[in-house]
Amino acid sequence: MLKLSKNEQDYLKSIYMIENNETKTAVSIHLIAKKLAVSSPSATEMIKRLAKKELVDYAPYHGVSLTNSGEIQARFIIKSHRVWETFLVDELGYSSEEVHDEAENLEHASSPKMVEYLYAHLGYPETDPHGSKIPSELFWKKNRVEITLKQAQKEKRYYITTLSSKAKSYFQKLQVEFPHLIKVIECLEDQSMLIKEDNGKIILIPKFLEEDIYVMQRVGEVDPALKRM
Ligand SMILES: [Zn+2]
Repeated sequence: MLKLSKNEQDYLKSIYMIENNETKTAVSIHLIAKKLAVSSPSATEMIKRLAKKELVDYAPYHGVSLTNSGEIQARFIIKSHRVWETFLVDELGYSSEEVHDEAENLEHASSPKMVEYLYAHLGYPETDPHGSKIPSELFWKKNRVEITLKQAQKEKRYYITTLSSKAKSYFQKLQVEFPHLIKVIECLEDQSMLIKEDNGKIILIPKFLEEDIYVMQRVGEVDPALKRM
């Protein structure tokens, strides 16, 4: 991930939010300036800077849109914000009305590693305390701890990290895309498994795939014996 200033991150986040609320393809500088409560000339200056870093596409009179890498940065900041809000409520006992301003500061101070550790520690929450969806993609993956799905425990949430080609074609037939968050619902007598996808879909995993699917555990619950050196 690029190292960006707080200001740059706020711009990317705002553009992302506007893009996702409006049907227009490009966002006007005027709208960005209004959202961030700054003047249009200073917004223009910043947009040019972000364009130089290839985080936005900008054509005068056409407006601004995020590039692929601008969008990744924006989604990371949004995840950081929402994960912190969840942490403050769930772990520190804040009320949900109190967390927004704290998260506005914390979101910029957090590395991808910290955000992903927090996210895992919280058990891969789907939404923040206000009900907004937390982006489930991982922005930091090094040193992940994987186990086979067979070793996964019932009623816990896992992140699917690796699939064999056999497993891939099985999921393709079911029209399921990966990676996804899943929860193990049931281990059946014939040693097949029922898992529930993030979107609520329940999938049967036959026994012949038990060594073909790797999942990542919640960080706080890693068995040291399973750690890959
Ligand atoms: Zn907030």
